Amino acid sequence: MAQGLRLVLFGPPGAGKGTQAQLLREHLNVAHISSGDLFRHHLGQGTELGLRAKEYMNKGELIPDEVTIDIILDKVMSIPNYDGFILDGFPRNPNQADVLEKKLSTESRNLDKVIHIDVSEPELLRRLGGRYICRACQSPHFIGSGEDASAKKCDQCGGELYQRDDDAPTAVKKRIEVYNTETTPVLGFYRERGVLVDISGDNPVDEVNKLVMAALGS
Ligand SMILES: [Zn+2]
Repeated sequence: MAQGLRLVLFGPPGAGKGTQAQLLREHLNVAHISSGDLFRHHLGQGTELGLRAKEYMNKGELIPDEVTIDIILDKVMSIPNYDGFILDGFPRNPNQADVLEKKLSTESRNLDKVIHIDVSEPELLRRLGGRYICRACQSPHFIGSGEDASAKKCDQCGGELYQRDDDAPTAVKKRIEVYNTETTPVLGFYRERGVLVDISGDNPVDEVNKLVMAALGS
């Protein structure tokens, strides 16, 4: 069997990385490693890694790189050598990219491609500001600025929809700012290695998916 592709889906919050990763996962038959899901898993289950992360959160401090790296690499290295994976939400700074590269190269499992989904700031603000989650089944929904969010229910299970603190307007601006200053330098890191592909992410999901597939040569 051919070796599975090892990919990073890169882009600002609201770029649709999770959605594209889901589509790719089905098509390429590789694991989807979402940093957000992994953190929620470790925190929810109270694992050793989760407890380490929680110590900092309780103090109101940022989770340091080494904890984030351990959480992601623990998962990446659990994937069999010949299986592929899609990383989504990691790496978020050049240090994380550097540690990931060193770890993968010890097993000759270097990344095949880093797909950068580029989205303009007004479009990000529109998308994130309209993002609601079902309290019961966690499925994401979009509610436009002209619609009444409190009147809407989950279209999967009828559950109550709510907006995460992370998706409130001031938090959204802050997340984009952090992405611009701390995360975008990772693009240069991967461009130097010749694995970076830029894709315009302002288009609808299926069009972005076509561009991603074309970039992967399938
Ligand atoms: Zn639901």
